[in-house]
Amino acid sequence: MSDANSSAEESAFEFESEGEAEEDEAGLAPVEEKKAAKKIAAIFLKKAPENKTKAGWKAGDPVPYSALTETFEKIEATTKRLEILQHLTLLLQQVSERSPDNLLRIVYLCINRLCPDYEGLELGIGESLLMKAIAQSTGREMSRIRKELEQKGDLGLVAVASRQEQPTMFKAAKLSVPTVFKSLKEIAQLTGNKSQDRKIGIIMKLLAACQGEETKYLIRSLEGKLRIGLAEKSVVVALAQAIIYSKQVNKKLSEAALAAKLDEGTATVRAVFSELPSYDLIVPALLEYGVEGLRDHCKLTPGVPLKPMLAKPTKAIGEVLDRFEGKAFTCEYKYDGERAQVHYLENGQLAIFSRNSENMSVKYPDLIESVPKIRKADKDVKSFCLDCEAVAWKMPEFDESGTQTGGGHLLPFQELARRKRKDVKVEDIKVKVKLFAFDILYLNGEPLLHLDLATRRKLLHENFQPVENEFDFARSEDCTTVEEIQTFLDASVKDSCEGLMVKMLNGAASTYAPSQRSQNWLKLKKDYLAGTGDSLDLIVVGAFYGKGKRTNVYGAFLLACYDADTETYQSICKIGTGFSEEQLLQFYQLLKPLELSNKKGYYDMGDAKPDVFFEPQVIFEVLTADLSLSPVYTAGKGAVDQRGISLRFPRFIRLRDDKGPEDTTSPEQIIEMYQRQQAVSNGRTKGGDDEDGFW
Ligand code: ATP
Repeated sequence: MSDANSSAEESAFEFESEGEAEEDEAGLAPVEEKKAAKKIAAIFLKKAPENKTKAGWKAGDPVPYSALTETFEKIEATTKRLEILQHLTLLLQQVSERSPDNLLRIVYLCINRLCPDYEGLELGIGESLLMKAIAQSTGREMSRIRKELEQKGDLGLVAVASRQEQPTMFKAAKLSVPTVFKSLKEIAQLTGNKSQDRKIGIIMKLLAACQGEETKYLIRSLEGKLRIGLAEKSVVVALAQAIIYSKQVNKKLSEAALAAKLDEGTATVRAVFSELPSYDLIVPALLEYGVEGLRDHCKLTPGVPLKPMLAKPTKAIGEVLDRFEGKAFTCEYKYDGERAQVHYLENGQLAIFSRNSENMSVKYPDLIESVPKIRKADKDVKSFCLDCEAVAWKMPEFDESGTQTGGGHLLPFQELARRKRKDVKVEDIKVKVKLFAFDILYLNGEPLLHLDLATRRKLLHENFQPVENEFDFARSEDCTTVEEIQTFLDASVKDSCEGLMVKMLNGAASTYAPSQRSQNWLKLKKDYLAGTGDSLDLIVVGAFYGKGKRTNVYGAFLLACYDADTETYQSICKIGTGFSEEQLLQFYQLLKPLELSNKKGYYDMGDAKPDVFFEPQVIFEVLTADLSLSPVYTAGKGAVDQRGISLRFPRFIRLRDDKGPEDTTSPEQIIEMYQRQQAVSNGRTKGGDDEDGFW
C-alpha cells in the first residue's frame, strides 16, 4: 500500500499534551470538526522526530491485539474527543498502510460489533457465563469473583486481577486481531445444546493468551460494552481521516490544503455512511478508491437498510408555524404502528427493516406477499426502497348480502404489539397489518434522497398504487393556517392516528436526511400537546420490591437513558404509576430472569438505589408532567449544572419492544426537552435550527 520509505515505520504525528485541545468533553459538533481538521492537519505536518511513533508490527503481518488494546487504553485515559480522534486515526492509518486486510475487523472491534446491524449477530455474553469462564481459567472461586465484581464494578478489571494472581505455566502465542475477531464471531454464532460449554472453552483459550490489559478489553468486548468513551461517529471520522492521510503521504500539501481535504473527506464519508451503513462495503471501497472515489462505489443499495430520518417533537401548532410559516410544508397522518423500510431488489428479493435496521421479514410474511402488487402495472418498477409505517388493520366485515357492516379501519399500536416477532406463518396471522408509505428513497437504480419531498412524493404516486386492505399512501394535506392544521389533526386522531407529521415540502431543506433528527420533520402528537412535547423511551435498569398488594411483584422501577458517547446508562427516575396489576405481573415475569447479582459497571446510577438491578433489555415508553433537576439522578448531568435531569410524575404508557437497549431517548434529547421547557416558562419561544441524530 504505502512505499517502503514512507511513514509505514513511523506515524507522521504524535499527540498534543493534555489540555491543549480546546473542545468540550461531550464531543464535537460537525461545525467544530472543521476546527479539529485544521488542528489535526497541523499536527500531521509537524515532522519533528519526537512526533513519530513506531508501529508495533511488520507490514503484511496480522495486527497484534495489543496494538488495538494499547490504543483503547489511551482513548480511555482521555475525555477529549480531539485526542480520541488522534489516537484512533493513528492506529487506523498504520493498519491501512501495513495490514489493510485487518482494517475492517479493527473497525468492528472498535464499535464492538461483528457485522452490520441487519445481519443480527450480536456480542453480549451473560455475566454469569463470563464469571464462570474467568473462574475456570484462573482457578479462582466463583464467590471471590462475585465479591470482587461488587467492589470493582467491572468484570474486565476483575479478570485482570484474577490473571495476575495466576501462576504462569507457559507463554501462549500472542493474540492477533484476526484471531480475536474470529473467536468472538464463533462465540456469537454458537447456539443450542452444549453451546454454553463451548463458549466457555473459547473464552478460556483467549484468556490464556491475553497479556496485561488485553484481558480487560477482551472481557468488556464479550460483555458487549467497551466503555472507553469511543462513540461510533468518532470511529467513522477517524476512518475517513486515516484513509486521507495514508493516501497522500508523499504529496506535499500545505496545512490549509490538508485541513480542507480532511474536512471535505470527513463530510463525504459521513454522508456515504448514512446512506449505506455497512462497513463491509465502505471499508474495502475506501482502501481501494480512497475518499475521492467512495461516492462512485458506495451509494444507497436495496438490501442495506439506511438509518431512518427522525423528527423533532413539538407541543403546539404555533411551534409548527414558527418553523414553517411562509414556506411550503405538508402535514401527514402520523400512523400509530411500526416503522417499516421496504427494500425490493432487482432480482425480486424483498426485505422489510425496522427503525433499528433489524430485518423484520420473518415478522411480516403477509407484507412480503403484498409488496410486489403495489407496483403500477404500466410502470417498469425494478427496484425500490420505501419508507412506510406498518399499522394493525381491522379487515372489513360483510353481511350475507355483501354490505359492509364494519371494519376497514386502523387499529392502535397495542394490537400490532400482539403479533409475534419471529416464526410468523401467513396462515396463523390474527392481526392484519396494512402498510402506509410516506416516502420513497430509491427507484430503479437511483437514490432519490437529494430530491425535494414534493418530487419524491410525485414519484411515489406515479409508480405505486394502493392495494385494498394491504397498502396505501400516507394521508396528507398541505395546510397553511392553524385552523387547517387543527382540523387535520382532529381528523387524524379520529382515524386512530397519533397525530401529525409536519414536513418541509420544497427546496434543499426537504431532502431526505438519513439518521438525522431534523427540524424539517416535526411530530405533533395528540397526547403531548400540553406536556413536554413527547414521550420518552427509557430502559428499565432496576426495580423496587412491592409492598402491600404488590408484595409478590416489583412495585416500582428505576429507569435510565443510554449515553452513546460514554457507553453508560444514566439514571433518570423511579416509576410506580400507570401500571395495571396484570402489567406488574407481566413485568415481573419478564424482568425476573434479567436480575443481576450486581450493578453493571456501566450503570451510572448516582444515588438511586433499587433493590435489584437488571440486564438492560426492557424499554418503557413513559410520559411526564415535566422535567426537573435532581441531585439523585445522573441523566444529562453537567449540562445544566452539577445535577442530573429527572422526570416528575412519570407515567407508563407501553412497552417498546421495537427498540434495542441503546435506542432510548438520548441524554441530548432530554437536555433539549429540559431547555425548551425552561425557555417556555421564561416566556421565550424556542429558536435554533440545530439538527441532531446519529452525528
Ligand atoms: P423517534 O423515532 O422520533 O426517535 P419514536 O420511535 O418514539 O421516536 P415517534 O415519536 O412515534 O417514534 O415518531 C416517529 C415515528 O412515527 C417514525 O419513526 C415512524 O415510525 C412513525 N410515523 C408514522 N407516520 C409517519 C409519517 N407520515 N411520516 C414519518 N414517520 C411516521
